[in-house]
Amino acid sequence: MNCEIIAVGDEVLFGDILNTNAQYIAAGLSDAGAVVQWQTVAGDSPALIRQALATALTRCDTVITTGGLGPTYDDITKEAAAEWLGVPLRRNEAIAQQLRDYFASTGREMTENNLKQADIPEGAMPLPNPNGTAPGILLQKDGKLLIQLPGPPREMRPMFQNHVLPVIAAQTEKKRASRTLKIFGFPEAAVESRLRERMLSTQNPTIAPYVKNGEVEVRLRAQAPTAEAAYALTEPYAQEIHQLFGLNNYSLNGETLAQVLVNTLAAKGLRAATAESCTGGMVSAAITAVPGSSRVFDGGVCSYSNEAKTRLLGVRPETLKQCGAVSEPCAGEMADGIRRLMQADLGISVTGIAGPTGGTEQKPVGTVCFGLSTPTGTITLTRQYRASGDDVRENSRTRATMEALFLLLKAAVEWKEAPHV
Ligand code: ATP
Ligand code: MG
Repeated sequence: MNCEIIAVGDEVLFGDILNTNAQYIAAGLSDAGAVVQWQTVAGDSPALIRQALATALTRCDTVITTGGLGPTYDDITKEAAAEWLGVPLRRNEAIAQQLRDYFASTGREMTENNLKQADIPEGAMPLPNPNGTAPGILLQKDGKLLIQLPGPPREMRPMFQNHVLPVIAAQTEKKRASRTLKIFGFPEAAVESRLRERMLSTQNPTIAPYVKNGEVEVRLRAQAPTAEAAYALTEPYAQEIHQLFGLNNYSLNGETLAQVLVNTLAAKGLRAATAESCTGGMVSAAITAVPGSSRVFDGGVCSYSNEAKTRLLGVRPETLKQCGAVSEPCAGEMADGIRRLMQADLGISVTGIAGPTGGTEQKPVGTVCFGLSTPTGTITLTRQYRASGDDVRENSRTRATMEALFLLLKAAVEWKEAPHV
């Protein structure tokens, strides 16, 4: 089954919004065993939509459109589909009733033009839209399948999952499984050189590393008669990669670093606290974004100024004077201070020069110091992130956040029962 995805909408075409619908549909189709060959974006005009549909239907046997189904544009996409089928639009009474019910349930008045959404090409199958008004449409002709879905992702996604994927899956022989392994602390080239032989020697699964947010994701994709069998094919490779990278390969199924950290802290009954300067709370935001983090997280201090570092965390003024706020001694005292203040098992600190200004020769932009305080001692380290580029500030802050989470994870994994101090 060869597929083309057409996103309709000026806002997508002109770059106002990201075409996340195409990404979502393409990933779903691929996992269901279909072959996605083309993605197209067409502006909100009848001629463009007609042309995009005609082209897609000559080169692919399955075409999925998103967007342009609402009361403002429905004439365009649906009429183009009806034209292709050679049939008129007909009012579907069941959908008209659903529309009336939908408006009644949301307490809004329904204007007459909304009923146009109940007009669908004769012979087409409507796809229910419990999260909105415009139904989806499924049409078949001469062995070709044309599916039209609404634009808003919260309407499109459940419709695709519940009414499109089962139809696609029933027509494909092979199913795919894909999984993402995440590796922190190794550059892409290092990951690739360790995996090269494996990557070249297997086609099922395929193994592909990508750099993302300062870590490397390794994508494994396999195909087999069932999704479960496809997933099983990835398992030995996932285990082998895990052996190669150890703890640095912290996730075997796409979990975030913060999720793995929270689970690990919870499993060990540990609690952590954060003292952040240049990350301004990003580490605590990442931890608290994980549901259930209250079991493992006491709190954090955003100690941006020197005064705050001294007053709240007990960093000694001499340390600040002699070594500066961006220094390992300061990071160490911040970490000890927050662990003491929160009576936590683990205290983590981050202090650095995020940029783009503020760097010196000794401490260029991108210099970030970390401290990790545990009952058995305190360790500190310094990282040097990229010092240029228009995203230098964002880059150093995100990477420092990841590093802090990873330091905590490592400490939690290596934690041995120790007397609480
Ligand atoms: P509505 O009934 O809301 O008008 P519609 O089917 O006509 O639905 P559009 O008007 O094309 O859909 O898009 C509605 C909104 O859905 C857009 O403003 C945008 O926020 C989102 N959207 C549309 N297309 C996409 C896309 N390809 N990727 C992500 N979001 C999209
Ligand atoms: Mg619309």
